[in-house]
This record gives sequence, structure tokens and C-alpha cells, in this order.
Amino acid sequence: MYALRRLIIDCFLPPVETIMKLRVFTAFICFIIYIMTSFGFAATWEESAKIAGDIKELKASPQWYHGIMVLLDESAFPFAAVGNQVIGAGFEHGQGRGFAFGHSAYAEPYREFFRDNPELVKNMMRWATKRSDVSQITFLTNETRYYNSLQRLGYKAEMIDLRKLNDKDPAGRILLYESSHFRFEDIDRVEEFVRRGGAFWMGCTSWWQLEHEDPIDGPTNVMMKKFGLVFTLSGMDVPNATFSLPPQCSPYVIRSKAIQTLNNIENETLSDSDFQCLNNSIINSLSFDSDFDLSKQWKDFDKYKVNLFPESAGQRHFSRRERIVKRLLMGYQNLRAKSYFTQPDKAETLTGIDVSFPGKPESGAVRVTKTVDVNPAVPDWASTGLYAPPGETITVTVPEAALKSGKYSIRIGCHKDLLWHKDEWLRYPEISFTAPLNKQTVSVNSAFGGLIYIVVPGGASAQTSSIQFEISGAIEAPLYVLGKTTKEEWAEMKKLGAPWGELATDKIVVSVPREQILSVDDPEKVMRWWDSVLDTDADLACVPKERKRPERITADVQISLGYMHSGYPVMTPMEVVDGLVSCHGDNWGYFHELGHNHQNRDWVFTGSVEVSVNWFTLYCFETLLKTPQDVPGGRMNPQRCKSMYESYARRGKNWDDWKRDPFLGLVLFIELKQRYGWDAFKQTIAQYHSLSSAERPRSDQEKLDQLFVRFSKVVNENTLPILVDRWNVPLSEDAKKTISALPPMRE
Ligand SMILES: [Zn+2]
Repeated sequence: MYALRRLIIDCFLPPVETIMKLRVFTAFICFIIYIMTSFGFAATWEESAKIAGDIKELKASPQWYHGIMVLLDESAFPFAAVGNQVIGAGFEHGQGRGFAFGHSAYAEPYREFFRDNPELVKNMMRWATKRSDVSQITFLTNETRYYNSLQRLGYKAEMIDLRKLNDKDPAGRILLYESSHFRFEDIDRVEEFVRRGGAFWMGCTSWWQLEHEDPIDGPTNVMMKKFGLVFTLSGMDVPNATFSLPPQCSPYVIRSKAIQTLNNIENETLSDSDFQCLNNSIINSLSFDSDFDLSKQWKDFDKYKVNLFPESAGQRHFSRRERIVKRLLMGYQNLRAKSYFTQPDKAETLTGIDVSFPGKPESGAVRVTKTVDVNPAVPDWASTGLYAPPGETITVTVPEAALKSGKYSIRIGCHKDLLWHKDEWLRYPEISFTAPLNKQTVSVNSAFGGLIYIVVPGGASAQTSSIQFEISGAIEAPLYVLGKTTKEEWAEMKKLGAPWGELATDKIVVSVPREQILSVDDPEKVMRWWDSVLDTDADLACVPKERKRPERITADVQISLGYMHSGYPVMTPMEVVDGLVSCHGDNWGYFHELGHNHQNRDWVFTGSVEVSVNWFTLYCFETLLKTPQDVPGGRMNPQRCKSMYESYARRGKNWDDWKRDPFLGLVLFIELKQRYGWDAFKQTIAQYHSLSSAERPRSDQEKLDQLFVRFSKVVNENTLPILVDRWNVPLSEDAKKTISALPPMRE
């Protein structure tokens, strides 16, 4: 009914200008539509339609990475969206109105949004203040640069001290405030200002801001919740940088609508997109609205909880409706489990959680107390050779040295990928957790279980080579350490009942399920092989073979991004997990992802991330496996390279084409490698390790220029016939000049 009331208020506004007449007319039509569509949601959209008037597009910038928000109830409505991802919303609160956008550029009057959407900005001002005449509207701001540019754009503006906000008459005033300057004590003032009829305009680069404050209980979301919405940590590119007005999205972008339908789910026939949207808006809000308790809002919560998680639910086929509710339950249970990780008493009350991944120990596995040695000079995850059974409490006794540092923590689980953003979950979206080791004894309880690590802070000047942590409540897990564990010890370890184990060297740690552990008879051979891969990467990257800390690699039933991805750990899908403990087979994927971990930002320019990474892949194939890939029969065989180049040339050697296709991109470097050899690459790469900050590239163009200028100087040839004539590399004029001064290319 909110929406209906809103329409009536608007219909009685005096139609001073044509635009107002148009608005009243539109409002009237909307009213009819509202009556005709028995479902209330159409009315919410009409606010957007009214504001947009006859403007059909909002222009943004392709550079803006928009934060995504969730609308909690019908006091808010979507204003700009891509599909069902809302990045701009309007809202009403008491007598007042406002806007929120998922990028700060929308609230910075010196940026493109104000300049490129002049009529839309005016319409927004009119709607928010309920004033038809823009000259009667004043912006209140705290930023001189906002103030100056508002004046330049012809708007009235006043500087405001937020402490005195409510001394002002809110009528006809819009608060436009730098979002990162809001403090807790401002929230009530802003709320009161809006409630009394003031307007509020918020633009927040939420994915950035929420990283720097508590995303749930920090000032940004506490304030925005008062206006019926929350920002999430997710964001998106908007490639064509325009939004159609009004947005076409599912009614379920509003959580209260989603809940309403959820409570009637037996009778609903939802489209796929509505189904996904209903699910996402509830799940996303669960993560960012701590006041929301799904078990209280959803009348059938207990009924479904029992039906969807029977002991043997694993392989049963779920109907689509069941999948909706299952996902909601998983999200709900997962967030509970997460918040109870450091509250073992509560964690022990969690029931009905599916603990099939990463897995339960074999029955009879003994719970032990074990002292583990940790080297404080090696940062990040120190393996303990212990596994936390799901739902059981693990207690760590923290040594004085670690307590003093205050920076150690315990981690349970190596599967650190978050899957909240995925439409389908093959496991719970967040199954590994950490807690600070800030007391003499710390107890944690992971509902999902997992391998136990002590997380060692970086940059510690180690006084000793080892400190001891006592861990109790865990079971022992296989941990092979190259150079320490004997063959006999390994054979004994394989009998341990933990569902996961690890093989480690100073250079890499491989985490695999029990099945793969059991398949390894010669762990030394496996780990020497991995060491040789890491040494080969170090060789090309020109970094020492002795590493500060080992890399990590593991497999998961579902990962956050791509088929595999780089990082710590490198993540691979479960279907190739055998490759982690065999020393042969198709290694492109592993070589590639570990290659990413050796790229240097200073020589990776736009479009080359997935290109220069494969220098490492090719180098490993060629020097380690002795199976070069740029020869007949190889992945980058001459025939393939030739046809890729010819098609590039036929299409006019467009650099955007080069950037779009990493394998075409690689052909350029294969040509350079075939002419000049890997040593030229190594000498070029090596230079970057000793650059002073003044010498480092500052822009994308400088990255590209420097890479090719440095390479050309190393080979001491004018490489422009290859780079420019043949490939159309967009070098700057300066770079071309420098390269052309080198000796001409030899035949
Ligand atoms: Zn990649």
C-alpha cells in the first residue's frame, strides 16, 4: 500500500511545469496500471518511470565498477539495474525521499554523471524534493569540490556541518555528502532529516567501502538499512555503460516480495529468472542484514529443513521448487555456521548440516592432542597434519611468542573459495574459516570440518626457528614433508582416517582427498616433480628458487571463478585432482595457474594477463618436459599460429582483436621467442626486479611501452618490423622512436 499512497501524494502536487503535467499524467496511467495488475509490484516501478519521464537512458562510464545492492522492502525501488542486479535505487522514508547508487561517481557533481545526464539529474531533484521548480532546490554538501561544481552547473548549494543538519528546514534541500565521511553518530541526524521531508543522495563505491568497514554493522549499511536497502560486496562492470530507464527487473529484487512469494511457494510457478532473483535477494540480504532471521520470516522453515536434509539427501533428485528452498536453507545454515565458528557452544547446537564435503573422518579415528612446530619465518598457512572433524570443537593452546605478536590465527579448511555469487551450489558457499589466536587458549568449531592450519603473519622477524602450538580435539591427517618423512612413515600415515591429507616441500604444498593420498606410493617422486615445476617458473621469472613460503594447490568440488584459477591456493576442479599426485599427463592447466602466480604487474598490460602467463606454460613444456608446444603436433603448432595470424591480418590487425584472444596474443610472443630465445625474455623480466619507484611504469601505456622497449634493447635490434608492421602493437611515439634508434633487424 506504500506505493499507492505514494501515487496519491504525487497526483496532488501542483502541475506547475509541463514536466509536472506529464508526471501527473504518467502517474494517472500508472494508477490505472496499478489497479489492473493485481500484484503490487508494478506500482514500485512506476516511481522509476515517473522520475525518468521521457528519458530512456542513464549514461554511466565503462570504467565504473558498480556495487550491487539488495532492496529490503517496498520503501525502496530499483532505478538502475542490469538484469536483476540493482545498482541504483530510489526510496521513501517518512516525509522524505532519496537515491542510492553503487558507485561514488553518481554523487560527485564534478564527475560525468551530473554532466552527461543533465535532464535526468533535474528530474531526480524534482522527485526527491517534491519541488517542480529546480531553482527552488538547494544541495547541502560537505565537500568544497562538490560545492564548487554544483555552483558551476548552475545549482544552488550550501556547505553543511552535519552536526547542524537538523537546524535546517528540510523542505527543498538535498543532502549530497561524501559517503566515506559518514560516522555512526551521523546516522540518526540523516534519518531525521529525511523523515522530516529532506532529500538524500548517496553514491557509494560499496565493494570498496565495505571492504574497509564492517559490511554488516558498519555505518554505511546501518544507515542504508533505515532507507530500505543494503549494499553488498559484489560489483559488476556495465560494458556499454548505459542503463535503460525504467529498469526491467524481477519483482523479487525487493526482498519483502521474495519472502511473500516464498511463503506461498507451493502455489507459485516462477520463471527461471524470477526463481534466481528470489533466491539471490534473500541470500544476499542474509549476508548483509544481521537483523534478518529467515527462520522467523519463512513460515515453512522447519518443515523444509527436515525434508531437505535427511541423512541420505546427497544424491536425491530435487525439484526446482525444492532447489529454491534448499539453497535458501544452505545459505542460512552456512551463515549460522560461520558466525558460530568462534562460539563452539552454539556451534554444537547446529543440526541438519550436510557434512559430505570436505568430509567426515573414518569411524574410529582417534581424537588427539598434539604439539605442532611452526616456523615463524615462513608466512601464511602452516600445515599441522591435523584434521578437524565437522562440528567438533578444536582447542589451541597459544605460545607466548605468538600471543605477543598478536597476529597469528587458526584456519580450518583449505577450500577458501567463496561461492555466494554462484547461481548453483555444489557445496556450501563458505566452508573454511579463520579466528585470531589472541588468547592463551582458543576454541573453534567448524560445522564443515577441514584440515587445520596455523596462519603465520608476514614480515615477522623470527627470533627462533620454531614455536609450538598445542592442538586438541583433532584427528591426525597424512602430511608428507619432502626430506623429512620416510617411506615407512608415509605407509603408516596412509592408514590415518582423515578425509584429506597433504604433500609438502619448501616450494609447494599439495592438498588432496584420501583417495589420492592412498594412490601415492612414491611421494618423494611426486614432490620432486612439483619442485622442478616451481624451479622452472622461478627460472623464467628470475626469482630465487628458494621461496619465502611455499605455493599451494588443491582441488574443490566447485570453485569461485573459471575452470581453474591462480592464487593461494591455486584451485582446480575435482575432476583433475589425480593430476595433483601424478607426475605426467596434461599439465597445461597447472603450469598456467602457477604461471599467474609469477607474473609481475609491471609488465602485464591490459589484454595480456592471459597471454604472458603462458610464457610460463610454454617454458615448462619446453624446458622441463622437453615437449615444446610451438612445433608440429604441439598446442601452438606452426599451422595454428599461421592461421591465427592470417585471420588477424585479414581483419585489419585490430589490437582489440589481439587483446580478446589470448592464444592469438601468444603467437606474437612465440615469434619473438623463436627469433630471440627465452634468454631475451629472462633478461627483460629480470630488469623489473630492480626498478626504482620512479622507473616503474605508471600507466597501462607505459607498461606496454616499457616491456617492448626493454625487450628490444636486450636483443639490441629495431624490432618495429615485427611489433608495428606485422602486429600493429600500439606503442607510443616515444617508444617507437627509442626502438627505431636500435640497429636494424638482421636477416
Ligand atoms: Zn589464466
